[in-house]
Amino acid sequence: MGRVYNFSAGPAVLPEEVLRTAAAEIMDYHGCGQSVMEMSHRSKVFQGIIDEAEHDIRELMGIPDNYEVLFLQGGAYQQFAAVPMNLMKNGKAAYIITGQWAKKAWKEAKIYGDAVAVASSEDKTFTYIPDCSDLDIPEDADYVYICENNTIYGTKYHKLPNTKGHVLVADVSSCFLSEPVNVNDYGVIYGGVQKNVGPAGMVISIIRKDLIPEEPPVANTPTMLRWKTQADAHSLFNTPNCWDIYMCGLVFKWLKENGGLSAVKERNEKKAKLLYDYLDQSKLFHGTVVPADRSVMNVPFVTGNADMDAKFVAESSAYGLVNIKGHRSVGGMRASIYNAMPYEGVEALVNFMDKFEKENS
Ligand SMILES: *Cc1c(COP(=O)(O)O)cnc(C)c1O
Repeated sequence: MGRVYNFSAGPAVLPEEVLRTAAAEIMDYHGCGQSVMEMSHRSKVFQGIIDEAEHDIRELMGIPDNYEVLFLQGGAYQQFAAVPMNLMKNGKAAYIITGQWAKKAWKEAKIYGDAVAVASSEDKTFTYIPDCSDLDIPEDADYVYICENNTIYGTKYHKLPNTKGHVLVADVSSCFLSEPVNVNDYGVIYGGVQKNVGPAGMVISIIRKDLIPEEPPVANTPTMLRWKTQADAHSLFNTPNCWDIYMCGLVFKWLKENGGLSAVKERNEKKAKLLYDYLDQSKLFHGTVVPADRSVMNVPFVTGNADMDAKFVAESSAYGLVNIKGHRSVGGMRASIYNAMPYEGVEALVNFMDKFEKENS
């Protein structure tokens, strides 16, 4: 069987060129007679791999020198705890609740301090991004927290909230490297890599250096969750996920070779437009979120009939368009069209939807 078009929300599609390079290098990485999976993380060869990966992501995102780039384990989820543990000097933070991931981060933060929900779109099942131009943010909040792209619901902040001078912390798991960013707008940017960057098993945290405390304000913060531990050791405090660092490095190279983040943004918008334009004129399928807040990465849609949805999922999957079933909490369908999804994949999906619509109306 050939390769399918994989619309999974994560772990997700990787660029074919990257997979080919990894395959070619798996027995013998650059003449050292072993694979990256087998070598010491203290070796010169591996140091070269991690240094190059950091250099390339810095170049891609334009990360200034006063930010650390950390390659960590524990997923995005572990940063839900690390963020309050390292940042809650006043024991207070403001959370904007735009979906399950923001809510989970908020709940986790409440274990460590006073995490206040300052806005939410739960009243309409997270189908929009709340107005964040004039939020009631406590003066002494240590940071304002957002989930920038809501993987499950398919919404995205197209404008960052007005934090009124507070530090902004963003979970960018599902929009990481999908467009250029101004890193200076954030105190902390982090994301699990398994959506848009690499294989599952790592989170990348980009943290403004002055926010990394000598001693975490939350008592008993484990050594591994102290950003200082990880920053001092340049992500090599203990054995890191060497393979993932290598794979992400290959993805960074692939992005650079393909024009960087402005070019990938243009390709992503073109793909998303094709799908949204189809949805907007379809009589069978329709999108579920407010158009102004639509994500370019995750596109949920429904027919309004659960049996019809199930039929579509089964038939599209048999046709080689896989992992298109919506999240269990929302139902319907969701097409995740990350960086590595080619335009042809979205075209194949739209053509199939059109054919399905004709057959079923
Ligand atoms: C998938 C996802 C997570 C969870 O990531 P893990 O690496 O599994 O912990 C967190 N936030 C967002 C926005 C996600 O899409």
